[in-house]
Amino acid sequence: MTTDTAAQAAYVVAALLFILSLAGLSQHKTSRSGVVWGIAGMVVALTATVGLASRSITASGLVLIVVATALGAGIGLWRARVVEMTGMPELIAIMHSLVGLAAAFVGWNGYLDVDAELSGSLLGIHHAEVFIGVFIGAVTFTGSVVAYLKLSARINSRPLTLPGKHVLNIAALVAFVGLTVAFVVRPGMGLLIAVTVIALALGAHLVASIGGGDMPVVVSMLNSYSGWAAAASGFLLANNLLIVTGALVGSSGAYLSYIMCKAMNRSFISVIAGGFGTPAASADDDEQGEHREINAEETAELLGNATSVIITPGYGMAVAQAQYPVAELARKLRDRGVEVRFGIHPVAGRLPGHMNVLLAEANVPYDIVLEMDEINDDFAATSVVLVIGANDTVNPAATDNPSSPIAGMPVLHVWEAANVIVFKRSMAAGYAGVQNPLFFRENTQMLFGDARQRVEDILRGLDSLDAPVPEMAGTSR
Ligand code: NDP
Repeated sequence: MTTDTAAQAAYVVAALLFILSLAGLSQHKTSRSGVVWGIAGMVVALTATVGLASRSITASGLVLIVVATALGAGIGLWRARVVEMTGMPELIAIMHSLVGLAAAFVGWNGYLDVDAELSGSLLGIHHAEVFIGVFIGAVTFTGSVVAYLKLSARINSRPLTLPGKHVLNIAALVAFVGLTVAFVVRPGMGLLIAVTVIALALGAHLVASIGGGDMPVVVSMLNSYSGWAAAASGFLLANNLLIVTGALVGSSGAYLSYIMCKAMNRSFISVIAGGFGTPAASADDDEQGEHREINAEETAELLGNATSVIITPGYGMAVAQAQYPVAELARKLRDRGVEVRFGIHPVAGRLPGHMNVLLAEANVPYDIVLEMDEINDDFAATSVVLVIGANDTVNPAATDNPSSPIAGMPVLHVWEAANVIVFKRSMAAGYAGVQNPLFFRENTQMLFGDARQRVEDILRGLDSLDAPVPEMAGTSR
């Protein structure tokens, strides 16, 4: 068997392992094995690629490849070990930016180092591949860098609203098509520089124009773009595995974006066009009125007398690492005969399934953790809702205010409960930068401070309560 045949056979095995990986990652209980399949696929793919490359490069070139692989693997292992759960989305975004950058470099290399055997229409196709690869790679690179900056709160998460922003995006796309035709007819470095600059600007602008509330869709969309960028590199390098893997990542990312758009009531087309960021100024920023405060002892008393409690966690619970005392609170209340359930919004926190992972880590039983659609009709019959570090996902403006940047996004209807206690440190807006009218409703009380400390205070308050009182308290609204 020749090296080439062996490598192609290994590529088929690696592609199958990647498909198994995707299948495993689609469910909680098989996700660990999904990761293992993915690692195995990548080991097979890298070994086969280095084996293939070893035929045509010098010994020092091979050493460089091995050193680069070891260095990359070391950095990857280190980042994966130290990253906090709350930092995962920004880590993913910066990883996507590297895929985009690599694709743009491969494209440039394809221009600078053209295979001498190519001629006629094959050369035309090659130049089209170069141009498209550089374009997708550069859009993915700057889009992901801006997503990283937004997700890590290094820049404001509010949408950038340049005048005529849609015209700018369309002009960039039209310029890309025109330049591609010109490049295929008469390739030149000036055209390639022009498309690189346009693509870099377009990627940054597309993501900057999207508001914080819509970032989950943007992250999965950039995931998809990074896959297409890798596939474009695969065509240029004539590497079948890169084409297959890129297409797998591109299509699964696009499908995930589609599912998330449906869950968040957004238009798929407008995500691709960077179009659903809306002006930052809105009625939500106006003065909303007075808010009321409650302390931990009073909350403990309210909870001790409640018959039903729903806890809706959000990003703040993850920041405060409050899941352990929250799980303890749920257990204590259940021991007192209170019905306790959790209501989980699909984009609560900073990555899909974030809250489910934290609650599972704290051993909260699965059967009391319900999805938004399963619990939204039950708030009206609930004594107390504890909103622990959630904000955008419980914002009634999404349903009441058509001019709000998060209008139309499905939210947890916590305000329908008899009593709502909001745990946060200040009156600051949520990730979407939109003020929350919930905080000013008559049945809402704010419990200020770090969520973990406040829940621990409540646990102490519950301990000092005499005996459980099974009747429902505070049903007036
Ligand atoms: P938000 O991000 O809207 O709000 C979190 C709240 O937690 C803040 O208002 C903050 O208020 C409070 N908080 C922060 N730290 C603490 C602390 N230590 N103790 C108590 N409170 C704290 O949370 P949600 O989960 O409701 O919404 C998620 C948002 O993130 C949505 O807009 C979603 O679209 C977006 N997003 C989601 C992703 C996903 O895949 N899930 C990915 C990217 C973005 P204060 O500062 O006053 O304490």
